[in-house]
Amino acid sequence: VGAPLPDEVDVLIVGSGPAGLTLAAYLSGFPDIVTRVVERREGPLEKGQADGISCRSMEMFEAFGFADTVMRQGYWVNETVFWRPDPADPSHIARNGRVQDVEDGLSEMPHMILNQARVHDLYLDVMRRSPSRLVPDYGLTMTGLSVGEGEHPVEVTLERADGSPGTVRAKYVVGCDGARSSVRQAIGRKLVGEAANHAWGVMDVLAVTDFPDVRFKALIQSAGEGNILIIPREGGYLIRLYIEIDKLKEGERVAARGIDVSDLIAAAGRILKPYSFDVRHVVWWSVYEIGQRLTDKFDDVTEAGQVPRVFIAGDACHTHSPKAGQGMNVSMGDAFNLGWKLVSVLGGRMGPEVLHSYSEERRAVAQDLIDFDREWARIMSERPANASASGDPEMQRHFIEHGRYTAGMSVTYAPSVLIAGAEGQALAPGFDVGTRFHSAPVVRLADAKRMELGHVLRADARWRLFAFAPEGEAGLRRIVDLCRALEAPGGLIRRYPGPEVDSVFDLRAVFPADPHTMSPSALPGLLLPEKGRFGLVDYEKVFCALPEPEADIYALRGVSRMEGALVVVRPDQYVAGVMALEDVARLEGFFDKVMIGGT
Ligand code: FAD
Repeated sequence: VGAPLPDEVDVLIVGSGPAGLTLAAYLSGFPDIVTRVVERREGPLEKGQADGISCRSMEMFEAFGFADTVMRQGYWVNETVFWRPDPADPSHIARNGRVQDVEDGLSEMPHMILNQARVHDLYLDVMRRSPSRLVPDYGLTMTGLSVGEGEHPVEVTLERADGSPGTVRAKYVVGCDGARSSVRQAIGRKLVGEAANHAWGVMDVLAVTDFPDVRFKALIQSAGEGNILIIPREGGYLIRLYIEIDKLKEGERVAARGIDVSDLIAAAGRILKPYSFDVRHVVWWSVYEIGQRLTDKFDDVTEAGQVPRVFIAGDACHTHSPKAGQGMNVSMGDAFNLGWKLVSVLGGRMGPEVLHSYSEERRAVAQDLIDFDREWARIMSERPANASASGDPEMQRHFIEHGRYTAGMSVTYAPSVLIAGAEGQALAPGFDVGTRFHSAPVVRLADAKRMELGHVLRADARWRLFAFAPEGEAGLRRIVDLCRALEAPGGLIRRYPGPEVDSVFDLRAVFPADPHTMSPSALPGLLLPEKGRFGLVDYEKVFCALPEPEADIYALRGVSRMEGALVVVRPDQYVAGVMALEDVARLEGFFDKVMIGGT
């Protein structure tokens, strides 16, 4: 149990689903920011809901320190299979394709399946162990919200489980309160689009079947009985089945159809013919009704010059079908985009105007998701009655073509104060400006540890500057010159100081050299900073490319060996810019537009 809810907080998060917990876990790392999470449920989620974790979300989990736990506990989606009516007997299904689920080299992380409730637990664990010891306040429902004046301008009214009222004032409120969001309603935003006329039956079951692909993710289209998506689940036995239910009529609610789990089991049996499907135990089931909808803005700004005070994230701003497995991922992505911006503004490093970028960046992502989902829904619900089971059916083709999308890798933020233009991109084309930093392997100089460079990106609101040295003797000199410019009086690091030399900008260097030929003692002080109250030296900032051509980060990402490159990475792991090593003026100009309090 956490501390009692104070009268005033910096950030109030409403809802502890994947969006709310991602944001809470992020903010919990900053004990100077008073954060609270209110949740209507009486306790943590125990089972059910979403389960797909994209490669991109796994990269984000790595920044929170629990990707390895998910890899240990979850189901790995290695290959996906496709089944269609058997041309010889269309009343039976036959396998018609099998593809690798994630293309080689897309991410160092796998596509995983793990129960949403377990993902919640992992976040709750991060929060519990954080400097803030943050715990959600369960049994508290937000009932009203208004934005007034003062340092804590947002007033939120709450109701406890026993019906007693409460009030909290906050600097910022983030509505992570799901598809029926009260925060969204309070700020007058609406989900616009197709109403909830798609219904899905979903069940997590223990079953005995002779269907041979039951431990694969399987998309199954029958001739006349509908479609199933099978998602094998963690632990080796549990299976999730999504069964598409006929489109609802206008204004019809799925509840009125009285669909029961026995109907879902019977439908699964019909679709899977000629295979048997004997359900021995139902762990969880639900009929899940959803429309493809989106709000026009993800914050409360209605006039020019106004800065946002209330945000919405996750299902509160976009809803879509569960087919592409994006619900939890995009919701967490929203929160990860907002977390560091709130930390930077509340910590006085950036002005509140930067908060506009949250709605701008994430609404574009959600719009893509809705478009994708609409197309995917069309393809999946097409009746394949007369289709041949050979060839390259549209569903499989679409699945392959959009693999990058479903893995979460196609998010590209447009140029803005937080994303520099494409100038400099040619120095490292594989670190595409606006997209997430695509990790590659390196070896750490100090201890010869082979590791992923992207794993130095933590959820800690720091900017990363990756300085890739050019080849040859000039390499070290160019890095020394860069460090000298950054550390000079008035240089970037002194201009925007933090408690430690790397609290705001975490500089890391990579050399295209054999580590055995390099000595840490030749490195500039900025790459061996003394930190903490004992002044201990941080030896972990310098890396070398691996010698194997297929694992060489310069080759993999196209980094210029002649010129090197400086890759600027935002705290949410997105590449903000690629710059020439000596173009410190451009680097400073970029940050001068973003940061405040420059000295
Ligand atoms: P949610 O996970 O919906 O979390 C919102 C939280 O806010 C909830 O914990 C809720 O109790 C709380 N809350 C709401 N109103 C208030 C309030 N006024 N005050 C305080 N707290 C409040 N996706 C799939 O991919 N597959 C599925 O099978 C699937 N099944 C689902 C079944 C159900 C019943 C639901 C609700 C969703 C399901 N989803 C499924 C969707 C998926 O879970 C969401 O896309 C994902 O959870 C979105 O995360 P979120 O944090 O935005 O919202």
